[in-house]
Amino acid sequence: MVAEVISGRDLSMKLKAEMKQEIDTLKERGIIPHLTVVLVGDDPASRSYVSGKKKASNEIGMSSEIIELPESVSEVELLKVINRLNQDSTVHGILVQLPLPVQINVQHIIESIDPKKDVDGFHPINIGKMMTGEDTFLPCTPYGIMTMLHSKNISIEGKHAVVIGRSNIVGKPVGQLLLNENATVTYCHSKTKDLKAFTKLADILVVAIGKPNVITKDYLKEGAVVIDVGINRLSDGTLTGDVDFKSASEVASYITPVPRGVGPMTITMLLHNTIKAAKGLVK
Ligand code: NDP
Repeated sequence: MVAEVISGRDLSMKLKAEMKQEIDTLKERGIIPHLTVVLVGDDPASRSYVSGKKKASNEIGMSSEIIELPESVSEVELLKVINRLNQDSTVHGILVQLPLPVQINVQHIIESIDPKKDVDGFHPINIGKMMTGEDTFLPCTPYGIMTMLHSKNISIEGKHAVVIGRSNIVGKPVGQLLLNENATVTYCHSKTKDLKAFTKLADILVVAIGKPNVITKDYLKEGAVVIDVGINRLSDGTLTGDVDFKSASEVASYITPVPRGVGPMTITMLLHNTIKAAKGLVK
């Protein structure tokens, strides 16, 4: 079997074209979706993610701004900025780029964002709504993964989905979204004994470990759908996923590449959430 590649880049381009049209319509009604991204400090990776988000917003005609704060900013100062953005009716989506410096309690910041503007979907209220299946902002990477599965009409109901990784931003929520669509879900993590015994049973395998090329074809059931979330930079500068793409492609039915897989979908779903916020769809 040679796996069909699910291109996040192609799907993103299609979705962004649709969103651009939707924004044009919203503008005719006087609504300009606006995303504000708060960047604390000067971490190069964070700066690159933030400028990617601004660029993508501009491409579809969305208004966006980056508020830059120094590495030394206090939690109180950052909370003041968020409070101002919460009150500003022209700001529809607020995203605070993580990680934050050590003097700032990340959870305090996440919980200070108005849940109706929480386009990252990290606020406990929105996580709770996701768990109970209410309409809300879904966290962008898991939402992007589900959108990729839907784009290929991959059936989820009754399937055994195995998620490797249990972070709050990827592993846990993607497992929940798969469960919401009636998959039987198994979570694996660094303390899992005999990882292969679980992955071999997966109809759908989501890999979010953060270590290069851990999953080879030996870990897969014939015909599995493989979603590679990992982004790892090798010493020669190239990017690779957590899955050995070449080897896994021999066994999987569908596979996502790295780069141009889940990565572009994450930003696309952020744009989608911001439009949803501008339309006032999350109460
Ligand atoms: P975390 O480091 O928060 O979580 C990694 C998870 O992998 C943990 O649950 C850890 O287990 C588990 N793990 C680590 N080593 C192993 C192992 N050998 N076997 C099984 N499980 C293991 O990472 P994130 O969830 O934030 O990100 C994961 C990857 O996805 C990273 O490469 C990141 O860059 C990428 N990413 C990509 C995004 C995209 O848009 N494409 C968005 C977000 C992340 P334990 O809990 O026991 O420590």
